[in-house]
Amino acid sequence: MAATDVLKPDHAGARRHFIFTDEHEQLRESIHNFVVKELRPHAEKWEETTFEDWVFPRMGELGFLGLTYPEEYGGQGGDYYCALVLAEEMVHANCGGLGMGIAVHTDMATPPIHLFGTEQQKQDYLVPAIKGQKIACLGITEPDAGSDVAGIKTRAVKDGDEYVINGSKTYITNGHRADFIVLVTKTDVDAGYDGFTLFLVDMDSPGVIREKKLQKLGMHASDTALLAFQDVRVPESAVLGQIGKGFYHIMWELQGERMIGAAGAVAAAQHVFDRTLQYAQERTAFGRPISKFQVTRHKFAEMATKIEAARQLVYTTAWRFANGEYPVREISMAKLYASRIAVEVADECIQIHGGAGYMREYDVERVWRDLRLNRIGAGTDEVMLEVIGKSYGL
Ligand SMILES: Cc1cc2nc3c(=O)[nH]c(=O)nc-3n(C[C@H](O)[C@H](O)[C@H](O)COP(=O)(O)OP(=O)(O)OC[C@H]3O[C@@H](n4cnc5c(N)ncnc54)[C@H](O)[C@@H]3O)c2cc1C
Repeated sequence: MAATDVLKPDHAGARRHFIFTDEHEQLRESIHNFVVKELRPHAEKWEETTFEDWVFPRMGELGFLGLTYPEEYGGQGGDYYCALVLAEEMVHANCGGLGMGIAVHTDMATPPIHLFGTEQQKQDYLVPAIKGQKIACLGITEPDAGSDVAGIKTRAVKDGDEYVINGSKTYITNGHRADFIVLVTKTDVDAGYDGFTLFLVDMDSPGVIREKKLQKLGMHASDTALLAFQDVRVPESAVLGQIGKGFYHIMWELQGERMIGAAGAVAAAQHVFDRTLQYAQERTAFGRPISKFQVTRHKFAEMATKIEAARQLVYTTAWRFANGEYPVREISMAKLYASRIAVEVADECIQIHGGAGYMREYDVERVWRDLRLNRIGAGTDEVMLEVIGKSYGL
């Protein structure tokens, strides 16, 4: 065989997945540059203070809050993969709470307005949200109902041409800073899954009480609220989507939320892997870089394999989602698997760092603390397993 016929493994080749085009890569580069230059420098401070509200109008100005929304509402008119690119690049801020606060705004609270909202609601909420002038939050979870969404108790009762809302919501991301909430309520207690309705509620409405800011294991840069709704009066025009169809609306919303969460988890795992790889090549013990121990090399090989498997699952599922399928089983698998392997990777990266991994200074322990949420938020591992298992008729 001639020398030129020898095919060498192309480990360093660019690995752009087929779902992404040159335009996605340009978008990736511009988000990346913005994140590294304008957001990352504040990561340390925001752990203490939560991230500052100016991030919203700044990202709105750059077009990053409306990547997938139509241009007529101020969006960029991009495809679904643009949302993945944003979620992936936000991890380079080294600030999980920031990525979550933005994702709640762009990919959790506003999609139902775009899909189910009236033209007026789109003008009043979606347009300013895309500009970053109004901050959004999403209220599903209650003190007595998390996994069991159908168990929520917040009531919206018709009174003339208004609704009166009473109840409470907890663990609400952006809840302290938000201008409005997409709120899941029960409008008919006897109607089972057909008794739920979504509302768009202004957070400065009389009776909306932002109770305590909750202290957390990780995601410190995000604000997490306990909210109370006491005789909050909203007009009929505040109903989002169809009366009685709120459960189905929010289940649809959760699919998008889980996809974005999975994409972000894989990207965060890759980011901490890359940083740890560099560390392992620089740190020496027993006269050699720790990366030269076979046990360390195998740890990287295991992590890389898990990350790649999760990434392929996320991208393939995203491709199906973007092409009009509603692949709930695979979305649940992607969310479950990506969340799990991301936490495993972050844990192993702490181990490879040794004592440094336990120190805040090296910023690896924070990745683990932030990622630990992914196995709980937007549906726990156990709930994902239930969805997957039941999809086989079990
Ligand atoms: C930092 C943070 C931010 C959040 N942001 C938001 C937000 O912005 N908006 C919002 O609405 N919610 C938010 N959440 C809530 C989150 O989605 C819920 O915490 C999650 O869905 C789990 O609900 P729960 O906490 O009530 O746990 P529970 O439902 O009480 O579950 C407790 C345990 O029981 C298990 N379990 C429950 N049911 C089953 C079952 N059928 N089979 C097997 N095991 C089961 C669970 O898996 C879990 O291990 C946030 C949570 C956190 C921690």
